[in-house]
This record gives sequence, structure tokens and C-alpha cells, in this order.
Amino acid sequence: MSQAAVESLSLIARVDAVRASLARAAERAGRSPEDITLVAVSKVHPAELVRAALAAGLTEFGENRVQEAAEKKALLADEHTPEGRGARWHLIGNLQANKARRAVQTFDLVHTLDSAALASRLDRICAEEKRAELPVLVQVDLGGEATKSGVGEEGLMQVVDAVRASNHLRLAGLMTLPPFYEESELVRPFFRRLRGLRDELKAAGAFGADAGELSMGMSHDYEIAIEEGATIVRIGTSLFGARPARATGGAD
Ligand SMILES: *Cc1c(COP(=O)(O)O)cnc(C)c1O
Repeated sequence: MSQAAVESLSLIARVDAVRASLARAAERAGRSPEDITLVAVSKVHPAELVRAALAAGLTEFGENRVQEAAEKKALLADEHTPEGRGARWHLIGNLQANKARRAVQTFDLVHTLDSAALASRLDRICAEEKRAELPVLVQVDLGGEATKSGVGEEGLMQVVDAVRASNHLRLAGLMTLPPFYEESELVRPFFRRLRGLRDELKAAGAFGADAGELSMGMSHDYEIAIEEGATIVRIGTSLFGARPARATGGAD
């Protein structure tokens, strides 16, 4: 669908359209749509839009700035889907050490753990905040220079070991943000590689009884990611239209 066509639909129609194409991609891959979690990327958008998304039945929200997410979470603490489910918050942006405490207080799942140092800091803060468990995904940089966030493959085991040695972090899986290509088919090898890494870790028992989530795929490439095994897709633009410009630049 063209961007203009997407913008003209109501939120409910766009949620339906994304769920339908997600289900078709799952079926092409012989998978069940229920095995794929749709994270609605609400970064930059106002809390009112998240409120509308909850009313449309979405429960998982992705944010890339800790402070912005904490503010929306506070505003929406009493909001629910028609079925009575509250919002769950996913950190999908780079986490700076000085935001770690707020992140522990705010997020249900951190997708962007990328160093052993950050793992031990989060673990210590979980203890201080009396948070028994924080599920994390290790963000892997498979694109080298092009993406610059996440740990390179060569450093992955060190981060995994730090999580496994922690008392409060649970290694829930892997995440990647491949380089952007106009031709979305070019990202397929990155998704395939992340799945390969997940499979190796799983065979080594790194996820315990868990399956090992694969957080991969955004608006322009989530169907390919699902074909390659994504269990979590992070979709903003296809659900909410283009993001408004941020009022101020710089990091969170
Ligand atoms: C913004 C963002 C997304 C959503 O991108 P869309 O193209 O709007 O779907 C997904 N993942 C990450 C890590 C992001 O920062």
C-alpha cells in the first residue's frame, strides 16, 4: 500500500490491514499468526494515539526514548483495551547508562541490550528497585558500520554470558535492526543470520525453557522477517502513518 493510501485509512482499518498481512506472511511460512507479537511503535506520537491504539486492541508499544515512554506510561496507567488489558512497554532504542534506572522502572521488555557492562548495571538496578525479573533481548549488529547499534557477532557470547550470570535478567532472545535498503528483499540475509544465531544459542541451552524470541522486521520489511522466523515485529509507520517531527533533537 502506498504511504498516501495508508494515511487515509482509520487506525482500526490500518490495524486490521497489518494484522491481515502479518497473518498471510505467517501462513506462507507455515507458521501460526498467534506466534508473532505485534509491537506498535508509538515513539514520537502523543499519548492520545496510544490511547486510541489500546481502544483498537493493541497492547504492546515500542518506544526509543526512556523519558518519553515513562511519561506516556504514567498518562495511560488506567487505560485498557476493550478486553481489559493494559499497555506493555518495549524499549527499542539505544539505552544510555544514565537512563538505566528509569528504564527498569518503565519497560516490560528491553530489546536493545548490547554490552556486558549494561547487563550488570541493569541487574544491579533490578535488585535495588526490587524488580525480580527483567526480560531482555540482545541487539546484534549484523550490518557492521551501517547501523552502529548493537553488539557485533564476535561480542555476542560475552553479552549472553553476562545476562546468564545475572540474577534478575532473563535472556528472552535476540533483536536486530538491519541497514535500510530501498529493496526490502536485501534484508533477508540479515534476518536469516539472526535466526541462525538464535538457533545456535538455543541448541547451547542459552534460553533455558524459552523458545528464544526474534525481534526483527519493521513496516517495510516485516513480511520478510516473518518468513524468516520473526516472533516479534516492530511496526510504526504502517499502523500510525508518518511520525511527526520531534520538537527538539538530540538524545533522550
Ligand atoms: C522506529 C523503529 C521501528 C518502526 O519503524 P517503522 O518503519 O515506522 O515501522 C522499528 N524498530 C526500531 C528499532 C525503530 O527505531
